[in-house]
Amino acid sequence: MTDTTTRQAGTLATRIAPRPWLDRIDPYRPGKHAANPEGSMASNESALGASPRVVEAVATAAVTAQHYPDPLANDLRTELAARHGVAPEQILVGNGSDELIYLLAWAFLAQGGHAVCADPPYRIDEISAHVVNAELTKVPLVDWAHDLDAMAEVDADIAYVVNPHNPTGTTRSLADIERFADTCRSRLVVVDEAYIDFADDPDAATAIPLARSGKAAVLRTFSKAYGLAGLRVGYLVGDSELLDTLRKIRAPFSVSSLAQAGALAGLRDEDHRRKVVSHTVESRRRVTDLFESAGYRTVPSQANFVLVQAPDEQALVSQLAEHGVSVRPGSSLGLPGTVRVSVPSDRGLELLQLALSPNQS
Ligand SMILES: *Cc1c(COP(=O)(O)O)cnc(C)c1O
Repeated sequence: MTDTTTRQAGTLATRIAPRPWLDRIDPYRPGKHAANPEGSMASNESALGASPRVVEAVATAAVTAQHYPDPLANDLRTELAARHGVAPEQILVGNGSDELIYLLAWAFLAQGGHAVCADPPYRIDEISAHVVNAELTKVPLVDWAHDLDAMAEVDADIAYVVNPHNPTGTTRSLADIERFADTCRSRLVVVDEAYIDFADDPDAATAIPLARSGKAAVLRTFSKAYGLAGLRVGYLVGDSELLDTLRKIRAPFSVSSLAQAGALAGLRDEDHRRKVVSHTVESRRRVTDLFESAGYRTVPSQANFVLVQAPDEQALVSQLAEHGVSVRPGSSLGLPGTVRVSVPSDRGLELLQLALSPNQS
């Protein structure tokens, strides 16, 4: 509980204390940007940026910014629906997938609900469950990946499967996820596919077919492969009745008209997305090689980052920082003894190589 007596007299905070369960929340800490953007490898942002067509579409949309946005982002969701082979009613666009995770928590976890996730989880899955005073069962990873067999035993309202997982970059096969959806005791399976574009393992296929058949709901985002993290657009593919519930409780104008226009332009620039994906896959291989050559072990990644095992985590973070490279310390992600390195630009790779080369002082 907040110690209200130590607060300055006369402030509102002396009269109101937050709901007691909010004490459990360990707030989200965003990654640090390096002074040189090429050295920023802490937030899994796209090294190639947004498509120029997005920039143009956002500028055009700004001209009519006096109007409220379309609450359901119909232009965008219609194209997304066609792409995924579902009805537009099976798509809900949100202010980043993070908003949709909060909506799921309000609708299905509040006041005594129960969620199951991996340990460590994607932080927003954890925070959103704590916000609504839900029970949260965290199931330790095995070999850095989701332990679906153990998660299946938990009698929860929502099971979160992050595929590829953040912060490890590991995947489970579609066959494994389908078996999990068929047999788990959770009432709703949510598969978060923020990084699925970067998965080149043929087994690590999208779970959209499970969304089509009503076995799971799938989260996607424009923040990673489309390079639009600053615009805040994500979407949920799932059962239309489930989405109706979320529509009922959401803030109607959470996705701005600029964001909707930008995401639509990004979606239509398939060449750009493909370029980002092939650059990321190649650069991921080089990041892995650089760390392995420097004597570190890495976790094989299917995402746009690589988890590096570093017993002296702080020493590696400092060594990289001295060369203008900012990474995410594993202890801030629930994995002490590791660092998470986002796949950089070509210039960023050079910085990384300099930072790791043994003949540097
Ligand atoms: C980056 C990321 C997202 C994307 O969140 P947005 O709110 O869409 O930016 C979602 N899930 C995971 C696991 C992520 O790492």
